[in-house]
Amino acid sequence: MSTLRFKALAELPFRNYRKDNFVEVPAKLSELFCQNVFSEETMREYLTKEAFNSILDAIKKGTKIQRHIADQVAVAMKDWALSKGVTHYTHWFQPLTGATAEKHDSFFTPIEGGRAIERFSGGMLIQQEPDASSFPNGGIRNTFEARGYTAWDPTSPAFIMGTTLCIPSIFISYTGETLDYKTPLLRALNAVDEAATDVMKSYFDKNVTKVSPTLGWEQEYFLVDTALYQSRPDLVLTGKTLLGHSPAKGQQLDDHYFGSIPTRVMNYMKELEIECMKLGIPVTTRHNEVAPNQFELAPMFEEANVAVDHNSLLMDIMARIAHKHHFHILFHEKPFAGVNGSGKHNNWSLGTDTGENLLSPGKNPKKNLQFLTFFVNTLKAVHDYADLLRASIASASNDHRLGANEAPPAIISAFIGSQLFGVLEELEKVTDGKLSPEEKTELKLNVVGKIPEILLDNTDRNRTSPFAFTGNKFEIRAVGSSANCAEVMTVMNVIAAKQLRTFKTEVDALIETGLKKDEAIFNILREYIKQSKNIMFEGDGYSDDWAQEAEKRGLNNLKTTPEALKEELNKKFVDLYEELGIYSHREFEARNEIKLEKYSTVIDIEARVLADIARNHIIPAALNYQNRLIENVKGLKEIFGDNEFKTLAKEQLELISDISGNVSQIKVGVDELLAAKEKAKNTSGSQKQAEEYCNNVIPFFEVVRKASDALEMMVDDELWPMTKYRELLFTR
Ligand code: ADP
Ligand code: MG
Repeated sequence: MSTLRFKALAELPFRNYRKDNFVEVPAKLSELFCQNVFSEETMREYLTKEAFNSILDAIKKGTKIQRHIADQVAVAMKDWALSKGVTHYTHWFQPLTGATAEKHDSFFTPIEGGRAIERFSGGMLIQQEPDASSFPNGGIRNTFEARGYTAWDPTSPAFIMGTTLCIPSIFISYTGETLDYKTPLLRALNAVDEAATDVMKSYFDKNVTKVSPTLGWEQEYFLVDTALYQSRPDLVLTGKTLLGHSPAKGQQLDDHYFGSIPTRVMNYMKELEIECMKLGIPVTTRHNEVAPNQFELAPMFEEANVAVDHNSLLMDIMARIAHKHHFHILFHEKPFAGVNGSGKHNNWSLGTDTGENLLSPGKNPKKNLQFLTFFVNTLKAVHDYADLLRASIASASNDHRLGANEAPPAIISAFIGSQLFGVLEELEKVTDGKLSPEEKTELKLNVVGKIPEILLDNTDRNRTSPFAFTGNKFEIRAVGSSANCAEVMTVMNVIAAKQLRTFKTEVDALIETGLKKDEAIFNILREYIKQSKNIMFEGDGYSDDWAQEAEKRGLNNLKTTPEALKEELNKKFVDLYEELGIYSHREFEARNEIKLEKYSTVIDIEARVLADIARNHIIPAALNYQNRLIENVKGLKEIFGDNEFKTLAKEQLELISDISGNVSQIKVGVDELLAAKEKAKNTSGSQKQAEEYCNNVIPFFEVVRKASDALEMMVDDELWPMTKYRELLFTR
């Protein structure tokens, strides 16, 4: 192993100069945009007017696509794809494994007389039947009825990857249960569209016919040289380092953040951006992140369904292109202890088909009341469904990051900035019932009317809040870097939908009693502000004080995945999903079960890998070095005799006994770890099992790690088998 480490290190100096690292970037990236996408423009060119219009209707209004139109679209897609050298097609979908899935079929079809043609029909476009038995389903399907099918999602454009035409699709079982991330997301988007459009039409703007949630994600990641990566079995098998002493220099100097991007990484980013352009992913921002070898990429925001697909697609191509540059990409939330972890901020807002951002204050009081309506309703939704939002970002890997003094805590709170907070406090004082003309004027001029000015000079930024208002959108900052955005986006949009529905009903009821529309809205918003106030927090979310304060306020602090997933099954949430037609009770429970099982499996694998490394790599290296010391001490004794050698070999003797102490701690720790793991493995019930792993297995990781990291500081560098943090983090 140590040979593997040194061989890997020896390769590094040559990495920067490899020819294939250098990428020609065209003068105008815009010319590449959507080259490999069956975009609106391409469709216009390849489709009849009838087919084109019906696709647009399907995208914009959700109307069904008729079979003869699907046939036309299929032929057009095929012709376009063939013109680009494509040979295969696949339904591209996002099962609950977390990765994207595809099964390629050839256009090539043999016909009689030893001839063959390229064929692709509407039927093949609309539906495929991958063997679905190995995808997670949470016990929904027995294996004898393991069939599921994928169905085309026309609202996300088809694209070409290599020589394959990829058709974004949903994945459902034959009995109709959802088995992927996209199906519930589409339902949630629909629900919020209906609810928000209703509010807009009734109170603010009759011309609005559609509201689409928007999502702009920011993706953080680490890059590690492939050779170094391969030399660490823990990175290869678990995506994170299970041990490793922190380097003398980490991120203390803050010299990496926004620093100049290393040449080799820059070449990688350039190639990645070219691919993103061709695939229509509008990436615009790149920079170094806080930790060494950590970076971030962000696009222009898009309609949420497309943005989610683009993030999944991006993670896939990021990994592929990284390999070309001899990098391995780490999406794990906490690949290295002691330096910052990676998140995926989800910036969320609502946009209308008239071009308005509903979370952006306007130019007049009316527009600002509209802004306040959506703003306050969002806060109320997050207040009422905080635990559901928390559960949607829960995973074994994100547990390491949340609350780890550089990432938002597991407590869901909202930061809105002191000035907007002031506005809400003013609104809290609005009179119950009818408002006097003076009060109306006062509200118009001095409260609602002041909002745009406030936001203009609102330089308030709080990076410690899990849910922060940033001027014209909310930023959900607790999402893990490895997560599929769909899950948190489903929850965000479902709770917004539910809240806006309730709001509409309540305002209408007040209008019925004789209040004017604005009065009714003010009255309802006032109550919502009062009810949601305890999640609003302007201070340092990373501090211990906040945890105590939050407890006083009665907010949940669900620190671990098993705790969060237990809360998820709350009847209130089950009912919400059923009411809005997102999941049946059974589907929701199945998903909860899948997440619990995944959690337990991840911890189980980590325990086995750690035990293996500790026993087979660390202990032998330590004993090897200890033997050398023993030889040295024996030699000293031989030369200098009993008395003098004791002084001369004092340090060696201490080291020998320290090594023994740590080796025995590792041995005992591993034995206990494995025993606890066996007990957890044999625990029945997914919730109980996950708790067992969480509470009784995880604590031993630290015991083993501590002793191993201590040994790393003692043992001769040349004998140490594991590539060190300073090498993983500072060589590129
Ligand atoms: P900052 O980097 O200062 O937080 P930016 O304006 O650069 O702010 O936005 C960061 C992210 O927010 C980007 O990914 C961007 O696409 C996204 N974003 C901006 N406006 C919206 C919006 N209306 N809806 C969703 N996401 C948005
Ligand atoms: Mg951000």
